[in-house]
Amino acid sequence: MIAARAFDFDSWRMQARALLNAEVSPEDALWGDEQTALFGGTPSTQPEQARAVRVPASFLSKAEQACQHADPERFAVLYRLLWKLAHGVGHVLEDPLDPDAARLTAMLRELSEEEHDMHAFVRFRATRAPDGSEHWVAWFNPVHSILKRVAPFFARRYPAMHWTLLTPTASASWDGTTLHFGPGAPSEAAPRPDQVDALFLSYYENIFNPARSNPKLLHRQLPPRLLRDMPEGGEVARLAKDAPKRVQDMNSPRASASAALVPNDHELGSLRSAAAHCRACPIGEHATQTVFGEGPPNARLMIVGEQPGDEEDLAGKPFVGPAGRLLEKLLERAGLTRSEIYVTNAVKHFKFERLPTKRRLHMRPVRSEVEACRAWLLAEVDSVKPDMILCLGATAAQSFCGPQFRVQRDRGKPTTTPWAPWWMATYHPSALLRASDEAARKQMERQFLDDLETTHEQLAKLTH
Ligand code: SF4
Repeated sequence: MIAARAFDFDSWRMQARALLNAEVSPEDALWGDEQTALFGGTPSTQPEQARAVRVPASFLSKAEQACQHADPERFAVLYRLLWKLAHGVGHVLEDPLDPDAARLTAMLRELSEEEHDMHAFVRFRATRAPDGSEHWVAWFNPVHSILKRVAPFFARRYPAMHWTLLTPTASASWDGTTLHFGPGAPSEAAPRPDQVDALFLSYYENIFNPARSNPKLLHRQLPPRLLRDMPEGGEVARLAKDAPKRVQDMNSPRASASAALVPNDHELGSLRSAAAHCRACPIGEHATQTVFGEGPPNARLMIVGEQPGDEEDLAGKPFVGPAGRLLEKLLERAGLTRSEIYVTNAVKHFKFERLPTKRRLHMRPVRSEVEACRAWLLAEVDSVKPDMILCLGATAAQSFCGPQFRVQRDRGKPTTTPWAPWWMATYHPSALLRASDEAARKQMERQFLDDLETTHEQLAKLTH
């Protein structure tokens, strides 16, 4: 009996070639990994003495992946398959009756499922690095050693963020240009739940699809092991309980009516034309025209306001009234250029009350009207696919995140969402115009500028 020890694909390949060269049959090879101290020995054949063995490239690629699996038998399974390939059983990988080929297929499927889990359930939390810069940290406990496999996905998804993904056995860090791998860390090393979690929970509640709430399926896809480390873990049971009521809300005639009008192609021109005929809520009956978004169709930054005002309603263009002029001025001060930004509103028609003086007084849209118009906003987002979304005011933010969002509490905190990898909210410029006194106005303007500067810094990171 010959003992062989491997801990990854390279070490397995070297050992397997040596065993094969020495004509050691799988029955005579005892495979162990770094966990099994019992297997201290290695075959004496050196790699350069090993004869070349021709195997399909697809086997090597599958073997490389399977070495990431936690099954302690993985190296033995791979050696048995290699032995069969090297001894004339060329079709073994396609043989449905071969137990090792079936085990390899199962391992690859389980790795792919865990990869999907990490894509979906890793949650980064904001921390401050020693130099004061923002650093995002997540902790995850995968069953298999797939960190190197999934880290490039997060580098592509969050190219401008500096982040570290910790697992018990290894870690990956992204500094904006390069991925680095390092040692693992216990769960205590991860940052504690914070306000970003509160914001994320609000967003999660809003996107939780009660119509698809199926407790059995939920527990299969989100086992307790994963829920424990996720901010929404404690929320799932409550959301599932509320599901029937929310299904009713989602099927409200208004939301369905606007969704039915949205063209499938989500092309901005056709969205604009179709929205012009929308009367899914009462606001559309009284306004002069639909005020659709405008700006570069592939803008990296999208700004979303509440609804058009009096001047916008007459001009048919967003942000051309007093609040729009103030926004343009402050954008410039923060280094942002309006013509490079796609600007739109959560609600596409002007809601007002006509005063006896004939003046039209702006009225805030109610929740059902915002919900009714959401289909247009999400179609716009889907068309532009911005890297960043900045919401101005509670109505815009709540359209994405739900009614729990509070501007005073939640503004200025970037988070990741399905609509854009970077999403943040701040005041609506009209709130600055309506401030109760000069001191309050100055303070709000400073905070608003801070948020615009944060947005500019993030945009600069993306464009350079
Ligand atoms: S406000 Fe929105 S949902 Fe209501 S009528 Fe206008 S476009 Fe349609």
